[in-house]
Amino acid sequence: MSFLLNKYHDLLKELSDKHISLVAVTKTKPAEEIMSAYEAGHRDFGENYVQELIDKYQALPKDIRWHFIGHLQSNKIKYIASFIHLIHGVDSEHLLTQVNKQGEKINRVIPCLLQMHIAEEETKFGFDEEELHQVITKLTGKNLVLQNVSIRGLMGMASFSDNQELVRGEFRKLHRIFKETGQRLPPLNDPFSILSMGMSSDYQLALEEGSNMVRIGSLLFGPRG
Ligand SMILES: *Cc1c(COP(=O)(O)O)cnc(C)c1O
Repeated sequence: MSFLLNKYHDLLKELSDKHISLVAVTKTKPAEEIMSAYEAGHRDFGENYVQELIDKYQALPKDIRWHFIGHLQSNKIKYIASFIHLIHGVDSEHLLTQVNKQGEKINRVIPCLLQMHIAEEETKFGFDEEELHQVITKLTGKNLVLQNVSIRGLMGMASFSDNQELVRGEFRKLHRIFKETGQRLPPLNDPFSILSMGMSSDYQLALEEGSNMVRIGSLLFGPRG
């Protein structure tokens, strides 16, 4: 079994001491590995691919809280809308309105994070500050009422880089945007309180810069093939 139990307990303890939520990222990992973490008491798991998520959702205990952390295509929302605990990667206004539409159909308010583009790489998805500003303005205005999504916070990925100061700067920027956005929003039913940033390679920096939810895969389950 490649599940690294000792490391898992050390990491869990560190995070729980700091009141940080851990999303255990299990993409490409078999259901048995998820079950061993489940049996150790863990409930929050993250997946990137809709089909893989559905297969695992069907096979595994129903009290697992599934996080969708990948790039979500709008035509696939309907497959996860009924059970997804949190969609981390809402990266366009179009996707947000489509999630809302699916929520309407099944009479469910779907919790979402808006994904911010903070890395240098062009390929990473997400809003820039100006686009976020526009979406928030619409959400707080009277014209666009999205009753079936709940914006719980922000998510972002830093550059894949050994340059710690670069990565730190990107996390710091996201934390600043998170705080500013929280101040702009009117009081919500569910608080705008989640800042999802940090993965195996950079979670320490993310925590130092104000993250309260980390998404960790390879550190827990070993490298992906
Ligand atoms: C795969 C992935 C992770 C986890 O990556 P590790 O380096 O294995 O910890 C976190 N967030 C997102 C969005 C991912 O795609």
